Amino acid sequence: MTDLIYKRVLIKLSGEALMGDEDYGIDPKVIDRISQEIVRVQDMGIEIGIVIGGGNIFRGAGLAKSGIDRVTGDHMGMLATVMNSLALQNALEKHGAKVRVMSAIQIHEVCEDYIRRRAIRHLEKGNITVFAAGIGNPFFTTDSAASLRAIEIDADVVLKATKVDGIYSADPMKDTEAFKYDRLTYDEVIEKKLAVMDTAAVVLCRDQNMPIRIFNMMQNNALQELMQGSNIGTIVTV
Ligand code: UDP
Repeated sequence: MTDLIYKRVLIKLSGEALMGDEDYGIDPKVIDRISQEIVRVQDMGIEIGIVIGGGNIFRGAGLAKSGIDRVTGDHMGMLATVMNSLALQNALEKHGAKVRVMSAIQIHEVCEDYIRRRAIRHLEKGNITVFAAGIGNPFFTTDSAASLRAIEIDADVVLKATKVDGIYSADPMKDTEAFKYDRLTYDEVIEKKLAVMDTAAVVLCRDQNMPIRIFNMMQNNALQELMQGSNIGTIVTV
C-alpha cells in the first residue's frame, strides 16, 4: 500500500452534510455512504476522531431569531449534535467499525463523557471516536470543537468535509470569476473573510499550528486519497 501521510486525523462533518437533498434531518443513504468512506480509511490503519455539527436539526443563532433565548438555543444545538453522533455511530457500526461517542455534556444513558485521556486510549485501540456536543458551551460552534479536539488528541490535521472541493475566492455558484485556492495561510483566511470555518476555530488552529484541509466529501475516495498525500481541496497552514 502507498505510504500514508497521516496517523491520526480529526474529521469535521457539518450536520448539513447528513441531509443530502433534504432540508432537515438525516438522509440514510448519505450517512451510509459517508460512513463507508470513513471505515475504508480506518481499514488503512488511520486513527479517526470525528466532530459532527447539528445544523441539520437546530442552530442556536437560528433559534434565537425565532425568539428562543440564545443560550437555550445553543443547548438545543449541542443536543442536536448528540443525535447526529448516535446516528453516525450506528451507521459506522453497520460497516463493521468499533465506535465510541463521547459528549462534552454529560448524558450517561446514551454515551460516554468526553475525557481526553480516555479518548486517546479509544483511538489507540482502533475505535472511531465521535466527539458530540461541541465544546459543551454556548456561543461556540462545532468548528471550534473540531479545532480544540484535534489539538487535544494530537491529531495530524483537521479535515473539514464540505460540499465544494476547497476554498474559493467567492461563491462559485454565484460568481463565474471565482477560483479555488490550493493553499492559504490562517491569516489569509481571516483577513479575506473566507467563509470556511468560523474565526475562533481558525485562530485556535493557527496558534497551535494545526493544519486544516477543506475537501469535498461528495467526491468518491477523497478521504482515502488524502491519506495517501493527494493535494485535493485547500490546505490552510502557517
Ligand atoms: N453549539 C454550541 N456550542 C458548541 C458547539 C455547538 O452552542 O461548542 C450549538 C450552536 O447553537 C450551533 C449548534 O450547536 O449552532 C450546531 O452546531 P454547528 O452550527 O457548529 O453545526 P454545523 O454547522 O456544523 O452543522
